[in-house]
Amino acid sequence: MNTRYLDEGFPLLHWATEVEAVCPKCNEVGVFSGNPYWKDWHATFFCHGCSHSLQTDRDGWHGPVLGMGRRPCSTCGHQWVRVEKVFDDASKINGESTKSKCPQCKSENEVSLKFTRTEPTDHAIDPFFGLELALKEDTRHGTVWAYGATHLEQLKLYTSAQLREGDGTKWSYFTRHPKWLKTSKNRKMVLKAISKLEKRLITNKGSG
Ligand SMILES: [Zn+2]
Ligand SMILES: [Zn+2]
Repeated sequence: MNTRYLDEGFPLLHWATEVEAVCPKCNEVGVFSGNPYWKDWHATFFCHGCSHSLQTDRDGWHGPVLGMGRRPCSTCGHQWVRVEKVFDDASKINGESTKSKCPQCKSENEVSLKFTRTEPTDHAIDPFFGLELALKEDTRHGTVWAYGATHLEQLKLYTSAQLREGDGTKWSYFTRHPKWLKTSKNRKMVLKAISKLEKRLITNKGSG
């Protein structure tokens, strides 16, 4: 039994060549094939349920965005009427303003918003369009997630290893792992989540 894991220092994006994600149209699972290297940043998504496709050179961010704005109240002049709100799907935003009540006189104001990309608290989205990952499993401590089969396999080897070795640069995916995923006390729980994810895989080990 192999109880050592050698961390080669790959960043998370190394595994973004193949990502299983939830289709924004039909909620079935689709697969990304991607090139996650900044010079050739590109990805195509194809849904296995409804054949919906997305391409980075044609389609925009579908993930969560933070909309922020403020204005003086148009009724009483109070500064400020503020809005700070997370929108789950950037592609569904119509117009760039929203209504908000003045904290002083309670009248409705139209506040224009500026948007910046954000991440859900479990970080379980794809890096190209921000779609929800298909391979995620909630545990008591947080969400165990992976992009695809190869990523999940590495996560499993790492989790089962009694001894973890590697260069540990600060960009290494495993170095940046949250503590609850690293601690041996949660090993059994994490491995259980991983085996549930393995059963749902639609990509193959070693292909990405
Ligand atoms: Zn679909
Ligand atoms: Zn007011």
